[in-house]
Amino acid sequence: MGRHDGGVNHSETRRTKIVATVGPASWDPAVLEQMIIAGVDVFRLNFSHGDAESHLRVIKDIRAISERIEMEVGILGDLPGPKLRVGDYPQGVVDIVHGATVTITPEDVDGTPTLIPVDWPELCDALKVDDTVYLADGSIRLRVTANDGSKVEAEVEVGGPLSSHKGMNLPGVESGLDSVSEDDLRWVEFVVANHLDYIAVSFVRKADDLDPVLEKLKELGSEIPIIAKIEKPQAADAVEEIVDRATGGIMVARGDLGIEVPLSKVPVLQKSLIRAAGEYSKPVITATQMLASMVTAKRPTRAEVTDVATAIYDGTDAIMLSEETAVGEYPVEAVKVMDQIARGTETDLPYWDWVLNRVPQDEMDVSDSVTQSAVIAAYRLNLQAIVVPTASGRTAKVVAAHRPQVPVLAVTHSVRTQRQLKLVFGVRPVVNDQTKEIRNLLYECADDAVRFGAAASGDLIAIVAGLSDMKLGTNLFEVHRVP
Ligand code: PEP
Repeated sequence: MGRHDGGVNHSETRRTKIVATVGPASWDPAVLEQMIIAGVDVFRLNFSHGDAESHLRVIKDIRAISERIEMEVGILGDLPGPKLRVGDYPQGVVDIVHGATVTITPEDVDGTPTLIPVDWPELCDALKVDDTVYLADGSIRLRVTANDGSKVEAEVEVGGPLSSHKGMNLPGVESGLDSVSEDDLRWVEFVVANHLDYIAVSFVRKADDLDPVLEKLKELGSEIPIIAKIEKPQAADAVEEIVDRATGGIMVARGDLGIEVPLSKVPVLQKSLIRAAGEYSKPVITATQMLASMVTAKRPTRAEVTDVATAIYDGTDAIMLSEETAVGEYPVEAVKVMDQIARGTETDLPYWDWVLNRVPQDEMDVSDSVTQSAVIAAYRLNLQAIVVPTASGRTAKVVAAHRPQVPVLAVTHSVRTQRQLKLVFGVRPVVNDQTKEIRNLLYECADDAVRFGAAASGDLIAIVAGLSDMKLGTNLFEVHRVP
């Protein structure tokens, strides 16, 4: 096997993709390497934490390890977005005590257990008596008891640990912050300059919120795909337009979503968001607290295992680890657990129902229709693989949207496309240069199916492609016997 063939790793035979957030628990190169071997497909860098220098070191380490062990992974840069955060706690973690009275101040002071600084000048204009304030991913709950115009007093209804830059959520209160800040745009430049594979945009409320990032990318001459993080109730109401505009897909960001909407609505939203992504043939990541107990325990709870499996049954492309791999004690084990759950669940998915119904019949264009025919033929004719020669990865995503049970071998000349396809359910992306001449291309695809272990001599396979001169999207489907 040559370089960039992806080596032989766990992500080759697993269909569901694993995204893992890098942080202090995992940025050691030895840990990153073990995580790749355990099955990470895409690493997520969370720009809400850490500076450019530390992220750059991680990027270089990931690329160097991938190259050395011949296993490509994607890297996703996650923009901070308009999130309110508490200020500095120089003494580290403090305990916000249940029943205590605390002061929230817009002043730039050090935090203490009873003084919570928040860098937001509109704090006192926005909050009124009886409002609820959540801190640290909703683990701390405060109720506003007084507001004298220069500071806010609140009672601690649910206490817990608090440290520097933890998030603050105010359900139902408009923060008035720009959807994409100057700081976010600097991170976009960083993402482009360092050739990351995806950008995630946080706290999207409507499709237009993606425009500043799309414009910046255009200005920089980049086509990096954008993932819209759905974590506000307004976004859940405008999901069709957002999915349509989000070039890279969406993330069901359950952490903030579960604070911004009642918790009981999260499962329903998860299902409808994953369904919407399927309808638009866009990838979807399900994120946050999937294996939360593994931050401190070596084995997950039964409920967590079922939650991960449920997201896969719902039709997610990828499942994501956040704190588990960023600050947890068992980052490598968490990846292994996700790998096992995914493999176990994938034996029982409603593939046939998906191929018939996941992409709505009445909205199908040429690409949808040709790719659906190929996936149906894969069942009827017992094809071993669907081979997709692809430059941008588009055809592979459209094939994957129908959720074939056989592997989708995406053969591309571009390492960039290979890394981007790492996020897509069922797609095994490999790099190999291919001829433009159509008859030769078909034979080369068959050779690649053998070379990369997707089929053997004598097997039937499907080859699906888009011939660019036709300008029809994906317009070619051939059943091919491997010579
Ligand atoms: C989330 O809220 O679920 C999420 C993924 O966003 P972040 O971790 O950036 O807060």
